[in-house]
Amino acid sequence: KKRNPYEEEFHQAVEEVATSVMPWYLDHEKYRRAQILERLTEPDRIVTFRVSWQTDSGEIRANRAWRVQFSHCLGPYKGGLRFHPSVTQSVLKFLGFEQIFKNSLTGLPMGGAKGGSNFNPKGKSDNEVMRFCHSMMTELHRHIGEDVDVPAGDIGVGSREIGYLFGQYMRLENRWTGVLTGKGCAFGGSAVRKEATGYGSVYFLEDVLKQHGEEIEGKAIVISGSGNVARYAAEKAVAKGAKVLTLSDSDGFIEVRDGLTVEQLEFIHELKEQWRGRISAVADEFGGVVYHDGAKPWGVSCDVAMPCATQNELDVSDAESLIGNGVIAVCEGANMPVTADAAHLLRDRGILHAPGKASNAGGVAVSGLEQSQNATRISWSREEVDRRLREIMKSIHARCVAFGEGKGGKVNYVDGANISGFEKVAEAMLAYGVV
Ligand code: NDP
Repeated sequence: KKRNPYEEEFHQAVEEVATSVMPWYLDHEKYRRAQILERLTEPDRIVTFRVSWQTDSGEIRANRAWRVQFSHCLGPYKGGLRFHPSVTQSVLKFLGFEQIFKNSLTGLPMGGAKGGSNFNPKGKSDNEVMRFCHSMMTELHRHIGEDVDVPAGDIGVGSREIGYLFGQYMRLENRWTGVLTGKGCAFGGSAVRKEATGYGSVYFLEDVLKQHGEEIEGKAIVISGSGNVARYAAEKAVAKGAKVLTLSDSDGFIEVRDGLTVEQLEFIHELKEQWRGRISAVADEFGGVVYHDGAKPWGVSCDVAMPCATQNELDVSDAESLIGNGVIAVCEGANMPVTADAAHLLRDRGILHAPGKASNAGGVAVSGLEQSQNATRISWSREEVDRRLREIMKSIHARCVAFGEGKGGKVNYVDGANISGFEKVAEAMLAYGVV
């Protein structure tokens, strides 16, 4: 904490991993002697730069951007770019650190990184977003490459932003290469990439429930967010026969007493992707949908909670409400959405808790598959990618079970994901010597 002052999110992420791995780490002298944990908490490098751009009315703006290249022990750096006013170096360090273990869990050759900017895309025109992305890539292109570092999307960075970033990379480098993932399917993107994080988290939830003698069909699920992850988690949950009761955005949440329908979800996809509208519009459009302004959805009674918006969005009082209402599992679609205290409470009360680094790894897994398709100039069918995604999520679940012995016959997914993800990186670091 002294070495990284004011980096609260980063401290939180490191503490969570360290708490899980410490007993196991102390048991393995070879890792301890090589100072693996200590070395892993220091990123390989952080690039910080200014992004200057012009508004439609001709005013000049300057934002700050970063790329945190954390570890490339297992493969080229890989991790998303986030555009949100709350982005700081601490947030990107926490995300980059988590990404190392998440990518390790997928079994694919990918290192850990994250990047982004405090640029707020909300309320900006397409042209303003384009000018920002072009300006950002003008610096970023020096630090990335298909065998070096392959960014993707995250909060505020979807297919529109990836298109603008990729266009500028090609212009600067004069070559087509799979340097970004999450591209449109017309220009090298993979089938199922945009759905992958949400679908993958529901596949993981399905395995968690099955492992504990439950099934997803008929379960009442409360989901936060209405972005890429939340909407496709909802879509897959509905397809599996679950009842999705809520979705939200930063203004409030909608409650659908009978469960979201396919028709409502189609409306929400269009609302968010094309009109960039607010979730409250769903209540104006459909009967039986109630909008709660300025509130979070965790007070709604459910079997499963899926936080899919942002970090630390579910705190102790939210966890108490969920437990009081009989929740059996919390499956993270977002990264670190549960505060440290709330996570302890869930564990102490025996609630199944799937951490994002395991349950939301489907997105980066399909990004890895996009890299493979780009490298071989082949495009796999939707069925083929979905089949591989399902298998990867199954194998991540199996690794969590193998490493996450919990109390009362329940799997401790937080420990399982942390130790399993850590072990592979530690082995690679030992093999490389002191680097
Ligand atoms: P999007 O930008 O598509 O959507 C984010 C959603 O979360 C929006 O509904 C947004 O509401 C809401 N949100 C964002 N910040 C806040 C906040 N501070 N308070 C309340 N609500 C907020 O992002 P994604 O769906 O891609 O990402 C969501 C989470 O999933 C993030 O934690 C991300 O790191 C993680 N993730 C994403 C992956 C991906 O493939 N996209 C892969 C793995 C993890 P509003 O529109 O009002 O801002």
